[in-house]
Amino acid sequence: MRAKLIVGNWKMNGSRAANAALLDGIAAGLDGAKASIAVCVPAPYLQQCEDALKGGPIAWGAQDVSAYSGGAYTGEVCAKMLSDFACRYVIVGHSERRAYHGESSELVAKKAQAALGEGLTPIVCVGETLEQREAGRTVDVVGAQLGAVLELLPAEAVGKIVVAYEPVWAIGTGRTATPEMAQEVHAQLRAQLRARAGSAADGVAILYGGSMKPENAHELLAQPDIDGGLIGGAALKAQDFLAIIHAT
Ligand code: PEP
Repeated sequence: MRAKLIVGNWKMNGSRAANAALLDGIAAGLDGAKASIAVCVPAPYLQQCEDALKGGPIAWGAQDVSAYSGGAYTGEVCAKMLSDFACRYVIVGHSERRAYHGESSELVAKKAQAALGEGLTPIVCVGETLEQREAGRTVDVVGAQLGAVLELLPAEAVGKIVVAYEPVWAIGTGRTATPEMAQEVHAQLRAQLRARAGSAADGVAILYGGSMKPENAHELLAQPDIDGGLIGGAALKAQDFLAIIHAT
């Protein structure tokens, strides 16, 4: 059985003081938690996370990484730099980066490759817009997004990634995919991983993201191919994040 993984995506939120209070609040309520836990934070706060979380049960990571390994790329942060702050995870291809920064699936694949090259675990986000879902294109869209990554990575690396299915229409909107809708897509993603990597696909965590909260977490996390959550808004409140962790 795959262990559940709960990852907080803080997006562009936080301050040194707010982060300290949030991390303290989470740490105080972890007794009995069975899930693996991580927070993906804005890059300037990686040092703060390393200092606060080192040696404890919460891993940390970033929300994006450059496809390049270093040099004249103003504003970029490369995977080696994230390793320097002992990151375990990095989110790649979040729908906000695809939408607001024009990131293509091919670029996302290169970012995943760069992360793996430095021993980081990329959390590869895929998801369809409402228009695409209503046009019956969900499977094609998420299949193509994941397919670009699977094409670039060698088969033996596929078992080292995490996938997050995040329907764009559910992110930050309060609308959640029903457990059945999410499970259907997760099973499809699992089949795609299996076709590329065989039994290694059974070890890949496929997270659900999109308005996961204490009220709906249990039912979503009970689905056979939902191995955890990528949590936005609810990851900014210690009590809500803890409730999701304890729903696993
Ligand atoms: C996200 O941004 O990854 C996300 C899932 O956000 P929210 O939980 O707020 O919908």
